[in-house]
Amino acid sequence: MLKKEADFIIVGAGSAGCVLADRLSADGKHQVILLEAGPSDNRFWIRTPIGYGITYTDPKVNWCYSAEPDPAIANRQLFWPRGKVLGGSSSINAMVYHRGQAEDYEDWERAGNPGWGYSDVAQVYESFEEFSAKSGASRTTNSHPRWGNRLTIHDASADYHSLKHEFADAFLQAGLTSPDDLCLEGEGVGPYLITTRAGKRCSSATAFLHPVTHRSNLDILTSATVTRIDIKGRAAIGVTGQLGNQFIEIRARKEVLLCAGAVNSPQLLQLSGIGPGGLLQAHGVPSVLEHPHVGRHLQDHLGISYFYRANRPTLNHTLRTWPGRIGAGIQYLLRQSGPLSLSVNQIGGLARSRPGLETSDTQLYCNPVSYQPAEGETRKLTLPDPYPGFILGFNPCRPASEGSIEIYSSDPHAPPRITTNYLTTQQDLDGVVSMARLVGRIQDTKAIRAVLAAPPDLDLTTMAEEDILSDFRQRSTTVYHPCGTCRMGANIQNAVVDSDLRVFGIQSLRVVDASIFPNITSANTNAPTIMVAHEAARRILKHPDA
Ligand SMILES: Cc1cc2nc3c(=O)[nH]c(=O)nc-3n(C[C@H](O)[C@H](O)[C@H](O)COP(=O)(O)OP(=O)(O)OC[C@H]3O[C@@H](n4cnc5c(N)ncnc54)[C@H](O)[C@@H]3O)c2cc1C
Repeated sequence: MLKKEADFIIVGAGSAGCVLADRLSADGKHQVILLEAGPSDNRFWIRTPIGYGITYTDPKVNWCYSAEPDPAIANRQLFWPRGKVLGGSSSINAMVYHRGQAEDYEDWERAGNPGWGYSDVAQVYESFEEFSAKSGASRTTNSHPRWGNRLTIHDASADYHSLKHEFADAFLQAGLTSPDDLCLEGEGVGPYLITTRAGKRCSSATAFLHPVTHRSNLDILTSATVTRIDIKGRAAIGVTGQLGNQFIEIRARKEVLLCAGAVNSPQLLQLSGIGPGGLLQAHGVPSVLEHPHVGRHLQDHLGISYFYRANRPTLNHTLRTWPGRIGAGIQYLLRQSGPLSLSVNQIGGLARSRPGLETSDTQLYCNPVSYQPAEGETRKLTLPDPYPGFILGFNPCRPASEGSIEIYSSDPHAPPRITTNYLTTQQDLDGVVSMARLVGRIQDTKAIRAVLAAPPDLDLTTMAEEDILSDFRQRSTTVYHPCGTCRMGANIQNAVVDSDLRVFGIQSLRVVDASIFPNITSANTNAPTIMVAHEAARRILKHPDA
């Protein structure tokens, strides 16, 4: 048994955990231990942006979860990748960077969380965002003084496939708004920003952890799986786990900070006796504190892609054929640019599916590549269709349906049960229809018609509502944004943590990751998770427990 002690124990080196490791060890006053179940991120396919087509199903760096069959989506069991490596899901994600919209955070504050409204969190964002100067973007600096490590956000629009021009024209013709500046926040469709630096993935580990690994007060343990949070009375005193084949016991002089993500953070709380009473009893876990909301309120984005045949080469040619791959490989090696340095999600953003809505309800994706999954398969990003193709897709960006994460057994190595409960509200069902109609308007524009080699498979303008829904139920997939399972709120009757991210009723224990979102943000969830961790660090350092 290996025994250690530190001021702060951070469980999980993902988007959030890497930020905490950096911020809490910065002044040298605190001893910090960071525990990550997965390995080092020093891997070619993690550094290379297009590599996420490979890490997507690689169990060496990915938990590769499966959700329960969901009746709302034809009883399909969706594949749920989650990062299991330094950098967590930010090491295997599609790198799109978007804050969401102000209304998301106004909702957070209204849910009983002072200091989390948009005017507050916008400043937190500014404190760590660094816009790549190479991009030619207008926003190359921001008002915050230059200190601390920063996340590089790259405007790669110059490198995007030439279909970007037709997509932009189509948006205009369909009456959509383009962003004033960058596609960073709020309504607007245009080129997506991505988290890359000099052509390589800029994960949370790249940005915040690698620059500080030399600190003598920061101990980083990989292949270290925490199996339980140790509680004495009503206070967290440390964690127990496994480091490879060795048992470890680590004591916290100040706090345990749970950053294991929206699937594993609630799982660990439940395994440690903090969760819904009935669930703990059913699996023989001694209860420390009945906590009814741990694992509830799971939210996610559920999206669909529509496939089109193009009358000119798209990325299908580049990524599928050997001449295309070799050309792209040479361009990447020589100039760190081209398709291998990019996400396939190139164009999109937030939009209103119909007039009269108070806020954007839709996230759009227009990708210059197509990969129709064969039945029963996960998509194969590495093998696009053998003809020129592209995708228009959407997901409802403020869904109301909620699922749950629950332990299946008291075995900490057994995956938890992921119940998605997609499309369980009328609002979500209505949204699908009006968003498909929006894509119909886009596919009917002159700009899109001009690049089609064949008429669209589906006429989304005239298609019956039941058929739109039935198609969505058959084909929609997760957009990999689970959150909300340890949500922040006013009290234990409706939430898991308070606005300082302290677990209600348990001293010296906080949750800091995407699970604390009171409601899902409208766009991609990496940016808000990194923001949450920065704000958490500020609050922890102001008032550390113990
Ligand atoms: C395939 C994919 C594509 C995505 N695309 C985008 C995108 O383009 N843009 C975007 O903004 N977001 C995207 N996301 C979502 C985004 O990456 C996540 O929302 C974000 O990374 C969540 O951060 P987190 O800190 O909550 O969890 P994670 O980053 O998942 O970190 C949790 C960490 O905890 C570790 N851990 C878990 N349990 C234990 C344990 N018991 N002991 C020790 N360590 C443990 C995990 O291994 C992991 O490293 C994508 C996600 C995926 C999976």
